[in-house]
Amino acid sequence: MKEKANKELTKLLQGNKNFVNGTPTTKNMSLETLQKFAFHQEPYACVLTCSDSRVVPEIIFDCGIGELFVVRVAGMTTGPNIIESVEYAVKCLQVPLLILLGHDDCGVMKYANDGYPTEPQYFKSLMHCVYPVFEDIPEKTDSNFVAKKHTHMVEKVLLEKSPIIKKAVEENRLIIANCHFDHSTGLVSLID
Ligand SMILES: [Zn+2]
Repeated sequence: MKEKANKELTKLLQGNKNFVNGTPTTKNMSLETLQKFAFHQEPYACVLTCSDSRVVPEIIFDCGIGELFVVRVAGMTTGPNIIESVEYAVKCLQVPLLILLGHDDCGVMKYANDGYPTEPQYFKSLMHCVYPVFEDIPEKTDSNFVAKKHTHMVEKVLLEKSPIIKKAVEENRLIIANCHFDHSTGLVSLID
């Protein structure tokens, strides 16, 4: 399963290069593809990312219909419905790969970076998901750095709060790849 996950990750990162180079190859965007999957789905990866209009997984990874199970929410924040959506992909669709995709210029990261540690007037549940990241960041910094730290925190939260995800990782049925999307280059990179 781990080999399969790594193979899918390599494929998606190659797809991202196709996007960056302006040479997308996917043909899985037709009605014919949709009809093939009319009564079932077999995505090979779950992508948890932000709702941001510039972060469109299928486009930046050069994918089509039926390939990715995508969960999007402002700031890639991890409330109960989001965690259960990822759990569905892991438990019911048996995806071997979970990509956590943070990104540059994220509005939620900027709002949190400006507001922390003040109790927010708006977007309370989003901020309560993001604020703990600042406990590991000693000084005010730029929001892109915060986004990368936050991506790591999201992995930690998923493993802590979801026995389904934790067990799948422990049993080598799932790998989690922490990634960051750079708007200026279009590149998706793995983050340490
Ligand atoms: Zn965002």
